[in-house]
Amino acid sequence: MPARGGIALYTQSGAYGMAAFTQSQEDLIGFSRVVACGNKADLDETDVLQAFGEDPETRVIAMLLESIGDGRRFFEAAREIAQRKPIVVLKTGRGEAGRRAAASHTAALASDTAITLSALRQAGIRVVDDGLTLLDVAAALDRQPPLVGRRIAIISNSGGTGVEISDLLESRGLQVPKLSEPLQAAIRPVLPTYGSAANPIDVTTEWRRFPEMYGSSLAALIDSDEVDAVVPVLLQRSALMSEVTDRVIAEVADARARGTQKPVHVCWVGSEAAEDNRRRLLAAGIPCHLWPARTAQVLALSAVAGGSEPRVAAVRCIARPPIGVDGGWLSSDLAFALIADAGLPVTPWRIAGSRAEAIAAAETLGMPVVLKAEREGLIHKSDSGGVRLGLVSAVAVGEAYDDVANRLGATTVLMQRQARPGVELVLGAHRDATFGPVVMAGLGGIWVEALGDVALRLAPFDEGEALAMLDELKGRALLSGSRGRPAMDRAALASLIARLSEWIAGAPWLEELDANPVIANADGFVVVDVRMRVSAQPHDVQARSRSGTGGETPS
Ligand code: ADP
Ligand code: MG
Repeated sequence: MPARGGIALYTQSGAYGMAAFTQSQEDLIGFSRVVACGNKADLDETDVLQAFGEDPETRVIAMLLESIGDGRRFFEAAREIAQRKPIVVLKTGRGEAGRRAAASHTAALASDTAITLSALRQAGIRVVDDGLTLLDVAAALDRQPPLVGRRIAIISNSGGTGVEISDLLESRGLQVPKLSEPLQAAIRPVLPTYGSAANPIDVTTEWRRFPEMYGSSLAALIDSDEVDAVVPVLLQRSALMSEVTDRVIAEVADARARGTQKPVHVCWVGSEAAEDNRRRLLAAGIPCHLWPARTAQVLALSAVAGGSEPRVAAVRCIARPPIGVDGGWLSSDLAFALIADAGLPVTPWRIAGSRAEAIAAAETLGMPVVLKAEREGLIHKSDSGGVRLGLVSAVAVGEAYDDVANRLGATTVLMQRQARPGVELVLGAHRDATFGPVVMAGLGGIWVEALGDVALRLAPFDEGEALAMLDELKGRALLSGSRGRPAMDRAALASLIARLSEWIAGAPWLEELDANPVIANADGFVVVDVRMRVSAQPHDVQARSRSGTGGETPS
């Protein structure tokens, strides 16, 4: 049997359970439960997750998932449990799962893998990419409190390693802040004059004083409010000296006795001869990660995961379904009316069935206007010359109408007021077969596929979650204004996205929606293009929630 400890492991691979056993011997990892799910004929991952959540011996939940049967049910359970216990998940089959839900922008960008990984993170789960990291992160969380905050202190007897690990921590979004003068003054007396107390703390090669230098600087750093975690680098000589190990163990034990919850992770670069010290550190509950890269990775992953509060209120069917439509793509007229109903700002529009109507609509809307071919099956209108921008006179509108009618055979056109230039965003939503309603937000316009810069969340969610989506975008700098463009109102955009998420959650008849672009300009936000597909049979909003059956503990 593996050693006893606080990690409950769920695996979809029996062999992985064996590998975990071997690893538990190597790295003294302790398990409370190990469950291999077999073919999930009766109990599935959510049942087991719920049992782990209730299990008093389980402090950390580690799961290797190949498939998630009922995504929405797993999400809801995980979101609730993650508030109390860390959950670490390795989701395999990520490439294979790139199945596309439908042939539209939204579905093409939102592959199943992207939705799954977004949903796991949204639930507050720490998502890892491989099995060894799954165990390492789970073990670190079982041994030490989670990382709360981002400021890391380093103590090293190798200046070079101090530099390396600083880079690696920063590349994972953590910080190695310079310590304040008073804190440096408190640490400096134990260091040689040529050492550094700035952070990384460089204790130099003065090995005779290693125990005192590591010990007292560790204590000072744990007690300071300038850093959120401490990483002693034990490299070669410092790893070999049992007195250093003794001091590190003693200082961490004292700190816990004082009630501090600051994690300490050792970065271990020791030889075989130092193995005894490594095992003593592990036995004392101090993670020892091999080399700086591993240390930075596991420490970053041990950080408190996001995760929004579960919503108690059941989603009501708030959006009224379109009348007289039985499945398929909606006309622009209907689609615009519906998203305006959802509370999204829409550019003023008119449908025109003739040249004269087009000119009259342009005059009502106010120039400049945009004329767009309105024809079923025309997906990318601009690709086929079906979008005519910048029309400033009745003559120009008439010409554009004739052109579109002749070339594309579209006698019905959509007339819109032209929005002022700005950054083009995309907002989308669709109903995933297992996770239910999903919302996408990102950088849009006609480059949306090329950029592929979108964030996904399960709907509904609040403004905070929407802001997190915006922060996730690679092109987020565009939102804060660049090259002379004003910064956009991120809070207003977030509230718009959250509103859309509430709306789609309450519109079970909606299969997919793609608003591209939503133009962000000096006037605010405005949707200028939308596509919407509805299902033939209205969905039952509540149908997915199964009654809880997770009381039994699988053995
Ligand atoms: P499609 O995506 O089908 O090619 P769009 O309606 O999105 O057609 O139009 C293509 C591009 O034209 C948009 O990305 C946007 O840059 C511009 N555009 C379309 N409508 C407007 C409008 N009302 N105001 C300003 N620009 C517009
Ligand atoms: Mg478009």
